[in-house]
Amino acid sequence: MIFKKKPNRSVYESKIWKHISPLDRTHLILVAEGLKPMAYCSFLDIKDVKDYLSSELGILFDEARGRVEFYHMGNYVALPNRTYTIYASEKIRDSHENASFIRRLFYTDLTGKFLGYPRCCRAEYMKPTVQKKFNDWIISHFPPRAFTFQIECVQAYLSGETIPEEFWFRMPSQTPCSIHCKSTIRLLKKWKQAIYKYDREAAEALKEFNDREWFKKYRQLAENLKKKGITADQFRKGHIFRR
Ligand SMILES: [Zn+2]
Repeated sequence: MIFKKKPNRSVYESKIWKHISPLDRTHLILVAEGLKPMAYCSFLDIKDVKDYLSSELGILFDEARGRVEFYHMGNYVALPNRTYTIYASEKIRDSHENASFIRRLFYTDLTGKFLGYPRCCRAEYMKPTVQKKFNDWIISHFPPRAFTFQIECVQAYLSGETIPEEFWFRMPSQTPCSIHCKSTIRLLKKWKQAIYKYDREAAEALKEFNDREWFKKYRQLAENLKKKGITADQFRKGHIFRR
């Protein structure tokens, strides 16, 4: 738990709150409730809304990045959404901003730490161990820069092993070091409970997002491998014998 100003939880029932996308609400709840030091969050660039959330939830907004754009009928349309970094306290904001002047690797690690991710997962993200753990044949089934977590998910789907349901509540930028990472499972259990407690719709949206963006693709890949006649055992051993 992070030391911060107590949030006014009636915000979670307000009309303004319902206008924020459910995924962004998950980030806001975790930072406001002191369960995550920092998060990235995108929504309308309206000063009154930021001021309201900031004063009522005791969080800080900083550094808006870019605009959300899409290309349609030969025209670029810029939406009035911006991406913000939100902080649980001034102290966290200052140490993160000051760190940006130091070594890049240290900054990447500190950013992961402030996003709440465990040390083991940050280490795996910065120096992936995929090449050491899996052979080229297995890795060739995945897009470039695959992570251990992705490969283990496909292995699990192939062998009928259960993936802990906590992983459906990870944040979009979060890369757990393994499907067996106890620190992440412990962390996600707390995050899941808090989001469900204050905003059920947001929790369901996060679960749906993770299934659509990640797990559905892993299931699909496992299905394709099965269709090719590749067994869980062959995939685990990392080779296939052909006659
Ligand atoms: Zn980990």
